Amino acid sequence: MVIVMKNEATEDQKKAVSDMLTNMGLKVHRSDGEARTIIGAIGDTAKVDELSLKFMDGVLNVVRIMEPYKLASRNFHEDSTRISIGNNIIGGDKVVIMAGPCAVENENQIFKIAKIVKEAGASIVRGGAFKPRSSPYSFQGLGEEGLKLLHAAGREFDMPVVSEILEATHIDLMNKYVDIFQVGARNMQNFWLLRELSKTRKPVLLKRGMAATIQELLMAAEYIMSGGNYNVILCERGIRTFENYTRNTMDISAIPVVKKLSHLPIVGDPSHGTGIREHVAPMARAAVAAGADGLMIEVHNDPNKALSDGPQSLLPDQFKTLMEELKTIAWAIGRSV
Ligand code: PEP
Ligand code: MN
Repeated sequence: MVIVMKNEATEDQKKAVSDMLTNMGLKVHRSDGEARTIIGAIGDTAKVDELSLKFMDGVLNVVRIMEPYKLASRNFHEDSTRISIGNNIIGGDKVVIMAGPCAVENENQIFKIAKIVKEAGASIVRGGAFKPRSSPYSFQGLGEEGLKLLHAAGREFDMPVVSEILEATHIDLMNKYVDIFQVGARNMQNFWLLRELSKTRKPVLLKRGMAATIQELLMAAEYIMSGGNYNVILCERGIRTFENYTRNTMDISAIPVVKKLSHLPIVGDPSHGTGIREHVAPMARAAVAAGADGLMIEVHNDPNKALSDGPQSLLPDQFKTLMEELKTIAWAIGRSV
């Protein structure tokens, strides 16, 4: 349930509403938007007497949220959420580009690629250290050594870093090295992991599960938010369909749909979304045109020798060209890259 306060509502009036809800045993979340304050109540709201709330001083309206996700809903928080990471804001006018290799392989590789993506205009460097591979015989990542190298490369080129977390026991370790925890598609519904991440305040990049609906993605975000971590960045990375010319089917329509349903930022991942190098740039351009707040793109200096996801990694020159193209697209919709 949300209580929308009048524009002219005083602090005392807002407090009175919050106190009343708290006294009823409900969890209260207050959102001070540009236009007005919205007070959200979570818990067993069935017993709340809507009419008496409606007649409290300063109250404009009382709305019951029908969606199963509350904190993630735009009804709960009208203004788009902006998440600050270093000097970057995800969810603002600038489309934030995160780029780097699928996996950190060695020092030379990650430093080389970080330099390439930085010079081309990326703001955040990515690189997996713990890799969730389909085969137990494939490269599983460098573990802590990979995190150290990623962190060092981020420092060297003045970029925050994002890396995937596979399990809750890694939170303390990863916290030392990463600026954003990435929850991969395979873990989107690992509710235990989400709950543990909700106890941190570090941004979480939450990827859509490969067979997850948009509602399930938003419910996963709700898990993180309900523990008090509101810094959730959603990611459309393609879903499994009957189509097999591409690795996944990138659901570009998820971007505007999520924007309508939720205030959380959403980024597009055309690398996993297509799995095929030549299709990455068109889908990156489409994601920005559709309103994505950012992109996550795999780039490799020597993709034929990459230890994971080489076939979908852009070559340095392709990434540079794409970054130029994105400027025009972003400009056309009143944004920048
Ligand atoms: C990745 O980003 O390298 C990755 C494994 O992504 P996803 O979880 O979307 O498959
Ligand atoms: Mn990958």
